[in-house]
Amino acid sequence: MKIAQDMAVTLHYTVKGPDGQVLDSSLDREPLQYLHGHGQIIPGLEQQLEGAEVGSSLEIHVPADQAYGPKHPELVFPVPRAQFDPEVSLEPGTQVMTQGEHGPLVLTIVGVQDDSVLLDANHPLAGMDLDFSIQVVSVRAATPEELAHGHVHG
Ligand SMILES: [Zn+2]
Repeated sequence: MKIAQDMAVTLHYTVKGPDGQVLDSSLDREPLQYLHGHGQIIPGLEQQLEGAEVGSSLEIHVPADQAYGPKHPELVFPVPRAQFDPEVSLEPGTQVMTQGEHGPLVLTIVGVQDDSVLLDANHPLAGMDLDFSIQVVSVRAATPEELAHGHVHG
Protein backbone atom coordinates (compact mmCIF):
# COMPACT_ATOMS: atom_id res chain seq x y z
CA MET A 1 0.00 0.00 0.00
CA LYS A 2 1.31 3.45 -0.95
CA ILE A 3 0.53 6.88 0.45
CA ALA A 4 -1.98 8.66 -1.79
CA GLN A 5 -4.90 11.10 -1.61
CA ASP A 6 -7.49 10.20 1.07
CA MET A 7 -5.32 7.57 2.76
CA ALA A 8 -5.17 7.33 6.55
CA VAL A 9 -1.43 7.32 7.27
CA THR A 10 0.37 6.42 10.49
CA LEU A 11 4.04 7.36 10.73
CA HIS A 12 6.89 7.98 13.12
CA TYR A 13 9.02 11.05 12.56
CA THR A 14 12.05 12.82 13.90
CA VAL A 15 12.60 16.39 12.73
CA LYS A 16 15.92 18.22 12.84
CA GLY A 17 16.67 21.90 12.29
CA PRO A 18 19.44 23.46 10.21
CA ASP A 19 22.12 22.77 12.85
CA GLY A 20 21.13 19.11 13.13
CA GLN A 21 19.42 19.69 16.48
CA VAL A 22 16.42 17.40 17.12
CA LEU A 23 13.34 19.65 17.36
CA ASP A 24 10.67 17.03 17.84
CA SER A 25 10.18 13.29 17.56
CA SER A 26 7.25 10.92 17.82
CA LEU A 27 9.51 7.97 18.69
CA ASP A 28 8.92 8.23 22.44
CA ARG A 29 5.14 8.49 22.05
CA GLU A 30 2.31 7.39 19.78
CA PRO A 31 3.00 7.70 16.04
CA LEU A 32 1.38 10.55 14.11
CA GLN A 33 -1.86 9.79 12.25
CA TYR A 34 -3.12 12.05 9.48
CA LEU A 35 -5.36 12.10 6.44
CA HIS A 36 -3.18 12.44 3.32
CA GLY A 37 -3.99 15.26 0.91
CA HIS A 38 -5.93 17.40 3.38
CA GLY A 39 -3.27 19.90 4.46
CA GLN A 40 -2.93 18.44 7.97
CA ILE A 41 0.86 18.38 7.81
CA ILE A 42 3.27 20.92 6.31
CA PRO A 43 3.00 21.09 2.50
CA GLY A 44 6.60 20.09 1.66
CA LEU A 45 6.34 16.97 3.78
CA GLU A 46 2.93 15.95 2.44
CA GLN A 47 4.11 16.31 -1.19
CA GLN A 48 7.22 14.24 -0.65
CA LEU A 49 5.37 11.49 1.23
CA GLU A 50 3.11 10.92 -1.79
CA GLY A 51 3.78 7.41 -3.13
CA ALA A 52 5.80 6.21 -0.11
CA GLU A 53 5.34 2.50 0.67
CA VAL A 54 4.16 1.20 4.03
CA GLY A 55 7.17 -0.03 6.02
CA SER A 56 9.60 2.29 4.24
CA SER A 57 12.02 4.74 5.87
CA LEU A 58 12.60 8.10 4.22
CA GLU A 59 14.84 11.10 4.72
CA ILE A 60 12.95 14.21 3.62
CA HIS A 61 14.39 17.72 3.38
CA VAL A 62 11.79 20.49 3.52
CA PRO A 63 12.87 24.07 2.76
CA ALA A 64 11.48 26.74 5.08
CA ASP A 65 9.05 28.10 2.48
CA GLN A 66 7.36 24.66 2.27
CA ALA A 67 7.47 24.20 6.03
CA TYR A 68 6.42 27.00 8.41
CA GLY A 69 7.22 29.81 5.97
CA PRO A 70 9.69 32.66 6.25
CA LYS A 71 10.30 34.60 9.44
CA HIS A 72 8.48 37.95 9.30
CA PRO A 73 10.57 40.70 10.95
CA GLU A 74 7.43 42.80 11.53
CA LEU A 75 6.19 40.09 13.94
CA VAL A 76 9.04 40.91 16.33
CA PHE A 77 8.04 43.83 18.57
CA PRO A 78 8.81 45.33 21.98
CA VAL A 79 6.35 45.60 24.86
CA PRO A 80 6.86 47.46 28.16
CA ARG A 81 8.32 45.22 30.84
CA ALA A 82 5.64 46.49 33.23
CA GLN A 83 3.05 44.45 31.29
CA PHE A 84 4.55 41.23 32.66
CA ASP A 85 3.86 39.61 35.98
CA PRO A 86 6.97 40.39 38.08
CA GLU A 87 6.93 36.73 39.20
CA VAL A 88 7.54 35.49 35.66
CA SER A 89 11.17 35.04 34.74
CA LEU A 90 11.84 36.77 31.43
CA GLU A 91 14.46 34.62 29.73
CA PRO A 92 15.08 34.66 25.98
CA GLY A 93 13.54 31.48 24.54
CA THR A 94 10.66 31.43 27.05
CA GLN A 95 7.23 31.16 25.45
CA VAL A 96 4.34 33.24 26.71
CA MET A 97 0.64 33.02 25.85
CA THR A 98 -1.44 36.05 25.05
CA GLN A 99 -4.91 36.72 23.68
CA GLY A 100 -4.74 37.68 20.00
CA GLU A 101 -7.40 38.92 17.60
CA HIS A 102 -8.09 35.36 16.42
CA GLY A 103 -7.59 33.44 19.67
CA PRO A 104 -4.62 32.55 21.84
CA LEU A 105 -1.17 33.39 20.50
CA VAL A 106 2.14 31.87 21.50
CA LEU A 107 4.93 34.43 21.62
CA THR A 108 8.61 33.79 22.19
CA ILE A 109 10.73 36.17 24.26
CA VAL A 110 13.75 37.00 22.10
CA GLY A 111 15.29 39.85 24.07
CA VAL A 112 15.07 41.49 27.49
CA GLN A 113 16.05 45.11 28.15
CA ASP A 114 15.75 47.27 31.26
CA ASP A 115 12.26 48.54 30.50
CA SER A 116 11.10 46.49 27.54
CA VAL A 117 10.78 42.90 26.38
CA LEU A 118 11.19 41.90 22.74
CA LEU A 119 8.54 39.38 21.63
CA ASP A 120 8.43 37.26 18.47
CA ALA A 121 5.04 36.12 17.14
CA ASN A 122 6.55 34.01 14.34
CA HIS A 123 6.06 30.24 14.51
CA PRO A 124 9.08 28.90 16.44
CA LEU A 125 10.10 26.92 13.32
CA ALA A 126 9.52 29.79 10.83
CA GLY A 127 12.50 30.43 8.57
CA MET A 128 14.00 27.00 9.24
CA ASP A 129 14.79 24.30 6.71
CA LEU A 130 13.71 21.01 8.30
CA ASP A 131 15.03 17.48 7.88
CA PHE A 132 12.60 14.66 8.63
CA SER A 133 13.39 11.00 9.21
CA ILE A 134 10.15 9.15 8.54
CA GLN A 135 9.05 5.55 9.11
CA VAL A 136 5.75 4.76 7.41
CA VAL A 137 3.95 2.51 9.93
CA SER A 138 0.62 1.95 8.19
CA VAL A 139 -1.39 3.14 5.21
CA ARG A 140 -5.05 2.37 4.56
CA ALA A 141 -7.97 3.94 2.72
CA ALA A 142 -9.82 6.37 4.97
CA THR A 143 -13.43 5.46 5.81
CA PRO A 144 -16.25 7.62 4.42
CA GLU A 145 -16.84 8.86 7.96
CA GLU A 146 -13.19 9.91 8.36
CA LEU A 147 -13.32 11.72 5.01
CA ALA A 148 -16.52 13.50 6.05
CA HIS A 149 -14.91 14.59 9.33
CA GLY A 150 -11.57 15.48 7.71
CA HIS A 151 -9.50 13.52 10.22
CA VAL A 152 -8.41 10.00 11.11
CA HIS A 153 -10.24 8.07 13.82
CA GLY A 154 -7.98 6.13 16.22
ZN1 LIG B 1 -14.35 12.42 13.56
